[in-house]
Amino acid sequence: MSFEDLFEEVKNSYDIVDVVSSYVRLKKVGKNFVGFCPFHSEKTPSFVVSPEKQIFKCFGCGAAGDVVTFYTKIKGLTFKEALLELAEKAGISVDKNFFVEKKKEKGLAEFNYKIAKFYHHLLYFHSSSKLAREYLEQRGIKEETIKNFLLGFAPQDGRVLAGYLRNASEDLAKGEELGLIKRTSDGSYIDLFRGRIIFPIFNLKGECVGFGARALDKDVEPKYLNNSGIQKYFKKSEILYGLYQSKEAIKKENTWYFSRRLF
Ligand SMILES: [Zn+2]
Repeated sequence: MSFEDLFEEVKNSYDIVDVVSSYVRLKKVGKNFVGFCPFHSEKTPSFVVSPEKQIFKCFGCGAAGDVVTFYTKIKGLTFKEALLELAEKAGISVDKNFFVEKKKEKGLAEFNYKIAKFYHHLLYFHSSSKLAREYLEQRGIKEETIKNFLLGFAPQDGRVLAGYLRNASEDLAKGEELGLIKRTSDGSYIDLFRGRIIFPIFNLKGECVGFGARALDKDVEPKYLNNSGIQKYFKKSEILYGLYQSKEAIKKENTWYFSRRLF
């Protein structure tokens, strides 16, 4: 059974309304069910479950997804753990080696995740990050969304990531391999992303597979940029979840251009 097959089988084994009802008191309104969002505090219910589409969506905080996503979030599990737990409960037998991952990809994903956290940190603490935060605010992207999607900021100064990798005694070669930094003619390193908002991209297993970045200056081309490591190490089909996950953030950017550019 492929990952996609297991994912489909698990989804088909549950009615999202039943699963959500164990955690949220739902009221039927027209075709949908409505309740108070379990992922943020609110005074009026803006959490909607569609039995027809088998998805949930919160119009307050932007949380959205299918039954597996809901279970992942509500139980505080990784996507993989949630999928296995739901499969077990539904009596779907899963080979214990199903999730044995290719070592190299996993190492690179962990490396990517560390970088995502670094850029996210810069969004709050870098001396020039005010502009980036103002930009996100202007676009109506909420604090909660920024944190959920680990959005980040790459300063205009092109030596920040390179400096971090060196300081953290990380492998500069790894950053170069993933296309995040480039070696210049004088042997020093320069960052790929400069003056950009960073969107980490996650695959179906919840691993960070790479980055999309939007220029803050409207005159800078290209407007959207991805690091080459995405295509190099990860199957395109595995990235779909990330596109889905960051859909809310991207939608608020008023474009699907960023996600389409990956393909
Ligand atoms: Zn919410």
